[in-house]
Amino acid sequence: MSTSTKHSIPHAAAPITRNPIIIAGPCSAETEAQVLETARQLKGSGISFFRAGIWKPRTMPGSFEGVGAEGLPWMQRVKQEFGLKTAIEVANARHVELAMEYGIDLLRIGARSSVNPFTVQEIADALRDVPVPVMVKNPINPDLKLWKGALERIQRANVKQVIACHRGFAVYGQTLLRNAPLWEIPIDLKREFPDLPIVCDPSHIAGRRDYIEDIARKALDLGHEGLMIETHPTPDQAWSDAAQQL
Ligand code: PEP
Ligand code: MN
Repeated sequence: MSTSTKHSIPHAAAPITRNPIIIAGPCSAETEAQVLETARQLKGSGISFFRAGIWKPRTMPGSFEGVGAEGLPWMQRVKQEFGLKTAIEVANARHVELAMEYGIDLLRIGARSSVNPFTVQEIADALRDVPVPVMVKNPINPDLKLWKGALERIQRANVKQVIACHRGFAVYGQTLLRNAPLWEIPIDLKREFPDLPIVCDPSHIAGRRDYIEDIARKALDLGHEGLMIETHPTPDQAWSDAAQQL
């Protein structure tokens, strides 16, 4: 690990392949049956990671906030029974510890966490030398420096591989899309760190399923290295983000 004060995000440890990284799975783990059924349907589709939110940071209290640690054995079953690598969001040191205990293969820092350097640093300290890749979503506000700072905090923890995730930005008054893509921000990030993989999350940019394909195409045309797409066996009945799940 470098202790230099120079601000840089060194190159990703693994080479970028031409095959996009595809992450798919439900917004939230709701029940064991729903998690396993989603995995069963995704098995064989060539996805790189199966996602499901265990702890859900929600804007409004009273929304479904995730099943919590109870869902971790469900993810373990996904891995054991369907051979899929698993991915969850972590928002504090305890989440990291539990994720490692349950063999999670990719950790994600959400947009409501990457906005807060205290939170990112707490997670980074817990991540020190973890053997799995860590994906850092852009902060909810359009601030490239804050995103770079979060990426650098995680990189300094000497994790296996750092990946950036573009999920769009909250802009007051935005109506067509849930989050404004502001493509110039990931493009500027790419220009500065050409070897840092960027995964686009068209689900959270769009907020509705009929726009996802166009946004996904645009991201790949711009050279993003992958996509994360929310999927559910019965999307309209999903307990969170029903309108955007495929
Ligand atoms: C998610 O991907 O589950 C999520 C909560 O997204 P975001 O942090 O981008 O809002
Ligand atoms: Mn979601």
